[in-house]
Amino acid sequence: MLKAIETDISKQARLSALQAEFAQHDFEELRTFCRLTYIASTFIWLLFDLIVSFKGQQGFTGLSVLLLGTMMMATLILGFIVEHRHFDVLNVFFVAVMALGIRYIVDGLPEEVQPIWLVLATASIFYSASVLPLSRWAFLAVVLLTWLTLNPFLMTSAEVLDLRGSLILCFYVFLSSVTIYCFFKLRQVKLYNFTLSKLLMSQAYMDALTEIPNRRSFMAQATQVLLARPREHDHYLAMIDIDNFKKINDQYGHDVGDEVLVRTAVCIKSVMAGHQYARLGGEEFAVYLSGVRRTDVEALMTTLCRQVREDPHEHPVTVSIGLTRLDDDESLNQALAKADKALYASKHNGKDRFSFYL
Ligand code: GH3
Ligand code: MG
Ligand code: MG
Repeated sequence: MLKAIETDISKQARLSALQAEFAQHDFEELRTFCRLTYIASTFIWLLFDLIVSFKGQQGFTGLSVLLLGTMMMATLILGFIVEHRHFDVLNVFFVAVMALGIRYIVDGLPEEVQPIWLVLATASIFYSASVLPLSRWAFLAVVLLTWLTLNPFLMTSAEVLDLRGSLILCFYVFLSSVTIYCFFKLRQVKLYNFTLSKLLMSQAYMDALTEIPNRRSFMAQATQVLLARPREHDHYLAMIDIDNFKKINDQYGHDVGDEVLVRTAVCIKSVMAGHQYARLGGEEFAVYLSGVRRTDVEALMTTLCRQVREDPHEHPVTVSIGLTRLDDDESLNQALAKADKALYASKHNGKDRFSFYL
């Protein structure tokens, strides 16, 4: 069974809409980490540049200032980026500048150590990129850019076939393969976990039949709004119950009963959009209305009763509603009990109507 669930999650994880949602989520989670990576990279680059400038013969030139300024500007821009796609592009730019900067520093080193430092720099860029929240294309662009700019055989004394060159080449291939593999594996695991947690969350907080929030979700959200309520705003709680629902089940079967539940949920969703609604269980629903006047509540309930009653369907139903205004310091459970009493009054007085708790 576990295998079947895993296959299902892997299938869902392949959907492009979910992948886009994951990419955005991943970026938002790691935004600060990206910033820190940029700041640390810029700082380390500056440190090396200063060492090579003053301990070496290169001197601190205008090009150093230009490269440093560009890296700092990219770090600043990162602070304003909200979409992961824009980060992908910015990162390609940042890596291009960084790679050119590294090339520049390496040029100021003694010839015999240049290839090794190019390999070390490649390793650092590859490692950082493999843990950043990048799209596949953006990561591969970083790899390609680094290969091109920091190639240890380009503009150095290293020869592919001599002792030093062979060792460097073997390590370079190993390093590139491991990093590319790690990036894709890590991405796959993160995507799987994201898909799994989304699935668990929806099962824990959504009603499977009607696809609207369930009791757990309602209690959590309504309690939150209730605790944060400004004193001057009116809050109302409504309990909605389908009339004679048992008859529908008995006469037409459970499947038709389920269909009626889904239709009623659709009506509640459309009329109560902007408010908190849920299926509490069975054929009972609840709505929490905050910051509304009594006349607004009455208008909404009239519309809901009419919409359910006039829904063109071969198994028409009606709903009864019980309402209560939340007093100051009243708990949600106390309000639910009052709304339930008001619901009983609606049922008692002929159904297909709403009543306020008196
Ligand atoms: P009233 O007008 O007084 O509300 O009467 P009623 O028949 O609607 O109320 P009652 O509480 O007697 O019946 C509720 C029924 O809802 C009983 C139960 O079998 C049915 N029910 C609960 N959950 C489901 C469900 O998920 N699907 C279906 N089809 N029926 C359900
Ligand atoms: Mg009931
Ligand atoms: Mg009922």
